[in-house]
Amino acid sequence: MKIFFPKEPDNELRTPIVPLVVQKFRSLEFDILVEEGIGETVSLNDDAYLKAGAKIIKNRVEAFSTADIVCRLNVPNIEETQHLKHNSIHISFLDPFNQKELIDAFAKQSVTAISMEMVPRVTRAQKMDALSSQASLAGYSAVIEAAEKLNKVFPMMMTPAGTISPAKVFVVGVGVAGLQAIATAKRLGARVEAFDTRPTVEEQVLSLGAKFVKIDIGQLEETEQGYAKELNAEQLELQRQGMIKVCGYSDVIITTAQVFGKKAPLIITQDMIDAMQPGSVIIDMAVSTGGNVEGSVAGKTVISNGVIIIGNENLPASVATHASQVYANNLYNMIEEFWDKENKIMNIDINDEILSGCVISHSGESIDPLSK
Ligand code: NAD
Repeated sequence: MKIFFPKEPDNELRTPIVPLVVQKFRSLEFDILVEEGIGETVSLNDDAYLKAGAKIIKNRVEAFSTADIVCRLNVPNIEETQHLKHNSIHISFLDPFNQKELIDAFAKQSVTAISMEMVPRVTRAQKMDALSSQASLAGYSAVIEAAEKLNKVFPMMMTPAGTISPAKVFVVGVGVAGLQAIATAKRLGARVEAFDTRPTVEEQVLSLGAKFVKIDIGQLEETEQGYAKELNAEQLELQRQGMIKVCGYSDVIITTAQVFGKKAPLIITQDMIDAMQPGSVIIDMAVSTGGNVEGSVAGKTVISNGVIIIGNENLPASVATHASQVYANNLYNMIEEFWDKENKIMNIDINDEILSGCVISHSGESIDPLSK
């Protein structure tokens, strides 16, 4: 059984496979093929992969056509699907709500496509949950980037030259990324407040030593998976009114509010930005799904009325070594979970509670992610 890991696009610093995980696959007797230079962005040379037991591939197209499983990180280029072997398996992030053509291309090729973002939130799947593994590192990186851009220190300092008060950090959206952002900002000594539309997270916020901002926006629900449901226009307005005072005195705002499969809600409007002190920093972690912050631009830093708005789309890449390590483990755990040792096949039972959530093309049929 051959697994091929092609090199990621030039703008990606992370890699989907690291030598330690090659060894784990080798112990299950997989043949591991990696494209030449696969680890160079995380300072891992081909030799390190060779020593771990991988074969280095120069001809990418040929490897696609012989591999039983292809694993990668980013959404693949649609043209490359034509080289995949019939009945092979492809595992990566696939952005399935926006990539109908790509899903159809997998189906046309009779490829079983597994979408890492669709892995369900069940206990058994936690070890393969790449959205969480990357979001956690992104939450950490967001705080580090904010601390670097802010021209103030985070902790309180009592010095002979006077007392410096701690930076005030406001985290909007307390999922996986938000929780890690709160924990990181607290460790750096900031005073942290947080808000989420799911009231159940209040306890988690308090347990990290932060304050929960209470805003009454009426009845709210979450999906079976624990994702927030979308607010209506009236509720969003109530939320903004409730937040404007906190925004006004915050040195840093980190927004992580997303609604699974939908455009992110616009939460921080221009009047809220204008209420902030010049030099304050906003990190819009939802920038790639539409943005929580008015005027934020994907991949850019914008200054708005003196406030620095950062739209870094790939925060996990700031800590690419660890992001690669955990992503590679997510892939390994996914394959190992369904690996039938005796028959040496990956057991694709689309009625399984995990695979029924994340397989989006199988046996020549594409599966609408909205039907999940
Ligand atoms: P996410 O990335 O979809 O969204 C981030 C946060 O934004 C969520 O907490 C959401 O409630 C919040 N949000 C949405 N709209 C908002 C708004 N208008 N204002 C403020 N906040 C808003 O979320 P996530 O990180 O994927 O986590 C969602 C939940 O799922 C969390 O409770 C998390 O702990 C849980 N989770 C469970 C598992 C598991 O059990 N295997 C795995 C991962 C996450």
